[in-house]
Amino acid sequence: MNLATRLVSFPASPGDPFRPTATPVYQTATFALDPHGLDAPFDYTRSGNPTRAVLEAQIAALEGGARGFAFASGLAALAAVLRLLRAGDEIVADRDLYGGTCRLLAMLASGHGLVTRFVDATDLDAVADAVGPRTRLVLVETFSNPLLREVDVAALARLSHARGALLAVDNSAATPLLRRPLALGADLVVHSATKYLGGHGDVTAGLVVAAGAALGERVYAVQNGEGAVLAPFETFLLLRGMKTLAVRLRQQQRTARAVARLLAGHPGVRAVHYPRTPSGAFATQGGAVVSFAAGSEGHARAFVAALRLLSVCVSFGSVHSTVCLPCAMSHASVEERERRARGLGADLVRLSVGLEDRGDVLADVARGLGGLEAEAQVAGCQAGARP
Ligand SMILES: *Cc1c(COP(=O)(O)O)cnc(C)c1O
Repeated sequence: MNLATRLVSFPASPGDPFRPTATPVYQTATFALDPHGLDAPFDYTRSGNPTRAVLEAQIAALEGGARGFAFASGLAALAAVLRLLRAGDEIVADRDLYGGTCRLLAMLASGHGLVTRFVDATDLDAVADAVGPRTRLVLVETFSNPLLREVDVAALARLSHARGALLAVDNSAATPLLRRPLALGADLVVHSATKYLGGHGDVTAGLVVAAGAALGERVYAVQNGEGAVLAPFETFLLLRGMKTLAVRLRQQQRTARAVARLLAGHPGVRAVHYPRTPSGAFATQGGAVVSFAAGSEGHARAFVAALRLLSVCVSFGSVHSTVCLPCAMSHASVEERERRARGLGADLVRLSVGLEDRGDVLADVARGLGGLEAEAQVAGCQAGARP
């Protein structure tokens, strides 16, 4: 079955005598047990809930894994994966990670004895050098954020497994429609479902998919043991949002590619970050996040100030187009030195392209570029006036 079909066609409420076509919200904490055998398919919502079970089966199917798990946020999902490690274990992580993930890794380093080595994961030799005998986890994102770079998941999986480490891939920016890391050998996939999977900017959620049943059992023990589960109503919203993922993504990435081309053709833009084909062209299946270097922080701010349609927001993947300055917003918690090492300039602008009419989005980006140009002229005059 094509994934686009699976997104809308799945068991909505298994075993339900009324056969609803949308998954009901089982807003209950407890379930009565059979008084004779004292058993039941569900007993307590932290441990399992029929609404959540549908979502968890759905994400496992979409990612091609053994089991799925739904959490209250993407970071709760990542924290659950990191719980699989013990004090003294090491993590090798890509440098270009979501800012909140870096902060979580730093917290675990200071409080829980988990050491993270950051490397450029597109450089396999650098990863091979960093992975040592105590490395238990390699953590990367597809596509990376905010520079939209791509790692070789199959090669990283071989390298990790040869050294006895697990490979976890945060697939929030690509979604299972564009990349399926488990098929390439990854052990775990993580999602901030707050982004594309939810897609409407109205729910905070996280997902984990384990490739195998034994690893799934370990993730389940953390999910049930710590309880950062997704609530039934949020689960319903996410299931509803996911049904339109294929059409949203198709439309959003078409507009995003047009935005990337517009930016690349402007003389004031220093670099455009968007997934590319081997020949260097912008990919047709590159997702809907585009970032670019505006030349200076002043130019970046002037671009943002001139926009009228795009709103200034953290996050990405929603039906609304948004803009953010990663160094001032989503990646503000990343240290200055680390930002420089990662090539995250203060002039970086990240756009998340939504479902508005393509012409309207392009017109607004052109308006932003007009603001950037005006700022460049003012700055140029001031520089020229200096003695
Ligand atoms: C947003 C994001 C997260 C964190 O998810 P929340 O749902 O905000 O907790 C993790 N990874 C990536 C790639 C993200 O973009």
